[in-house]
Amino acid sequence: MRGSAVIIGAGIAGLATARGLLRAGWAVHVLERSPGLPSTGTALGMWPEAVRALDRLGVGEQVRAASVEQRGARLLRPDGREIARLDLERTVRLVPRPALLAALAEGLPPDVVAWNTLVADHRALPGTDLVVAADGVHSPTRAALFGVAPRPLGTGALRGTVPGPADGTTETWGPARLFGITPHDAGHTNWFASVRADVLSSAGSGRTDPQILRRLYGDWHPAVRRVLDALGDTPIDRRTLLDVPPLPSYVEGRTVLLGDAAHGMAPNLGRGACEALLDATALVDALTAAPDVPEALRRYDAARRRPTTRTVRLARLANSVSTARHLLTVRNAVMAAAGSLV
Ligand SMILES: Cc1cc2nc3c(=O)[nH]c(=O)nc-3n(C[C@H](O)[C@H](O)[C@H](O)COP(=O)(O)OP(=O)(O)OC[C@H]3O[C@@H](n4cnc5c(N)ncnc54)[C@H](O)[C@@H]3O)c2cc1C
Repeated sequence: MRGSAVIIGAGIAGLATARGLLRAGWAVHVLERSPGLPSTGTALGMWPEAVRALDRLGVGEQVRAASVEQRGARLLRPDGREIARLDLERTVRLVPRPALLAALAEGLPPDVVAWNTLVADHRALPGTDLVVAADGVHSPTRAALFGVAPRPLGTGALRGTVPGPADGTTETWGPARLFGITPHDAGHTNWFASVRADVLSSAGSGRTDPQILRRLYGDWHPAVRRVLDALGDTPIDRRTLLDVPPLPSYVEGRTVLLGDAAHGMAPNLGRGACEALLDATALVDALTAAPDVPEALRRYDAARRRPTTRTVRLARLANSVSTARHLLTVRNAVMAAAGSLV
């Protein structure tokens, strides 16, 4: 089946869907409120199934070329002692978000994306066979269709990149906060911090982000301090972490939710963007194979809602365990046992 689609949002979900639908012969328009593709951003972990989805969208090679491999990770205590070592059987690729978005946008006809175009109400869009709401975790479309807003996880995140290569991937868990370090590219290190909201707000009053980070992590092991010393005036993205409660459907009439609009989740499993790519290829497959749009959307909902709802739940649990305040010895022992099982 072929037809016409309007996509709200030119993030990972929106651009991946646009690419897939154009390749399947659909007429596509993407409406994006921001003025263009971002030029800065941190690295995203891409699991093998997401890289396969990128292959199917024709951009796997570009993303591989722009990414670095991650084969294992170490979980550490704040003093640097190891809690567990995770040797991943499956290779994760770390790709800077701007490189991923640029690859997805590369080669799209110039009139496909309308930048600086805010969609206030999806119901006011002109007639089309399909409306794809890829408008992120704060999705106005989800709010209008299901009255569901994202809910705070009780943690905040700060993240950025600093000059200098990373020596492997580590996540360090302390009381009520964690600090992660991964490679970004050959010459830069990606870092992220997740902190219980009350601890972040009491550390934050009257301080700049680098000052907050030094206050929370300044006495942690040398690899963390090396990142703090390199912060300079590098940009820091700070946000309240949210996820999306389970929805009764990802579909309403001819409108379909994808990516964070459908299942925004805690970042702790590194799955949100991967799931957005899997949504895009599942939707394109369903639209290609089904006799009409309602049947295709029914198949998409059946394929994607249950697994992604489960991942949202697991990511919430991982967020809570990794920033726990109490029973840290028990937590670390469980993680050590789990690490040796992996
Ligand atoms: C700290 C952190 C670390 C993460 N790490 C990873 C990781 O390692 N691996 C991974 O897979 N995922 C990771 N994620 C998750 C990942 O960033 C998201 O899941 C992914 O960006 C979702 O893409 P999306 O296209 O659905 O939404 P978004 O990226 O939010 O895109 C939505 C787009 O819609 C536009 N928009 C919104 N409303 C409107 C409107 N009304 N009109 C027009 N345009 C609109 C926005 O401007 C935006 O461009 C992480 C997230 C965080 C916060």
